[in-house]
Amino acid sequence: MKLDEINNKLTKLAFERTIPFCYGCYIDCPEGRCKECGTDDLMRHLPGVGVEYGTDWVIESIVSVEVEPIDTEEIFEQMIDESYGEEIQIGFIKSNVSCAIKALDPIAWDIAKTEYIDGLIQDEQIVEIDGENYWIHDLEGLS
Ligand SMILES: [Zn+2]
Repeated sequence: MKLDEINNKLTKLAFERTIPFCYGCYIDCPEGRCKECGTDDLMRHLPGVGVEYGTDWVIESIVSVEVEPIDTEEIFEQMIDESYGEEIQIGFIKSNVSCAIKALDPIAWDIAKTEYIDGLIQDEQIVEIDGENYWIHDLEGLS
């Protein structure tokens, strides 16, 4: 799925999981209009979590509870070890490549990792939600 499809899917899910809510009367309004005061200016109520306007907070809540965020360090290590071979020898010691790079030049490691993750975001394989990174294919499974 592409990023905009995922965003549409998550927004739809946020509407499905929540109930319209009148903050003035403090009641659920499943019909989409408050039966007490008649307003249609309604918040969303996510049972067990809270009430607020909009759907971004609902999406953040659902994703943080139901989807495992990516360990970016781990996926970058795997990519490096797959690209450069698992083990290298430096003088008389053996090390895996990612450990060696991290020890020799931790700043270069961090820069390259950030570039790699940014590339996956540009590629729409990863999306950042509320400060965490998620695989788009993991979000496709939400329902
Ligand atoms: Zn009302």
